[in-house]
Amino acid sequence: MLLSDRVHTFGQWLKNKHGERVHKIALDAGFTCPNRDGSKGTGGCTFCNNASFNVTVAQQRRNGRSDPLPAARAETSFLGLTGCGSMTVVEPDGGAGARVTVSLQEQLASGRRGIARRTRASKYLAYFQAYTNTYAHVDALRAMYDEALAMQGMIGLCVGTRPDCVPDEVLDLLAGYRDRGMEVWLELGLQSAFDESLRRVNRGHGLAEYVTACRAARGRGIPVCTHLIVGLPGETGRHSLTSLDIVLDIGTDGLKLHPLHVVKGTQLANEWRRGEYTPLSLEDYVATATDLIERTPREVVYHRVTGTAPDRLLLAPQWCAGKWPVVNAIVAELERRGTCQGSCLVRPINGYEGLHRMNTSRPEVVLQT
Ligand code: SF4
Repeated sequence: MLLSDRVHTFGQWLKNKHGERVHKIALDAGFTCPNRDGSKGTGGCTFCNNASFNVTVAQQRRNGRSDPLPAARAETSFLGLTGCGSMTVVEPDGGAGARVTVSLQEQLASGRRGIARRTRASKYLAYFQAYTNTYAHVDALRAMYDEALAMQGMIGLCVGTRPDCVPDEVLDLLAGYRDRGMEVWLELGLQSAFDESLRRVNRGHGLAEYVTACRAARGRGIPVCTHLIVGLPGETGRHSLTSLDIVLDIGTDGLKLHPLHVVKGTQLANEWRRGEYTPLSLEDYVATATDLIERTPREVVYHRVTGTAPDRLLLAPQWCAGKWPVVNAIVAELERRGTCQGSCLVRPINGYEGLHRMNTSRPEVVLQT
């Protein structure tokens, strides 16, 4: 049984819409993030690997300069990245702490070659994934997005970012691409609807920024994919369920779920070594992810149900090294329960607006100390 038999997956959604498989080419356009360069903070999120931070290039971007793009790696070399919106793990250049310099064109070409080796796909999405992909002057962003969209077969963009980093002019730019018939998704990293949890991982924004960004994007017709992390410090599965409920109440078009993993070079790694953070077990993640899927309306598209980290950076939990065992376990759990996405919802009476969650009350949850 496939995940798409029970979950409304992004791959299936793209195939239905575009008549064939569409592949994402993951890109690192050399951005940084306001939670690193001092605008919002300097340490970054406690779970984010910052070994490849490059402030010089990032500052050039913010100033709207058009220097050759620095970059990290083409799609086939990204291991376990989940995007700025959530957990960014960019492999350092041989441990030296600098990004490998690869132009956007080279990344696109490499990504395309990698996909061609595996499939006969001829349609692609440019996935601006690493760090905060709207963190630059709008003219610089336009140049980057245009460069990616100029590649033959490129039908659109997925842009990962923070909720506090999408000003109106950037949203207008993205809406303009969509108006011209391109596929455009804005991926917003929320991670948790609990401000206390966000503070605890030094996220540098709260739920309020997410609400503003989400409404502004969707108000322009830009679909939003919301990133949520399961297993944040102090949270249980009930927090994740509540976060999902809140996200659904606000309105979202897509979801990405990630288990929190501990990688080298992070504050979370220190907490884990000191015994202050206990990673999720595979069984707990599968149970919570399955609960979340059952609670999600069928109209919402799942872009991802788990995330991985590269072996040489992953500290814990070890099961986060592989994607398919986790995906297969979620499918098996859905099968065991005899459920699928949206099973916890009553049938729609008048379309989406008629959907009501069977359990409309939010569980009372408190953060663990
Ligand atoms: S996870 Fe994203 S928002 Fe947080 S520090 Fe890393 S790049 Fe910045």
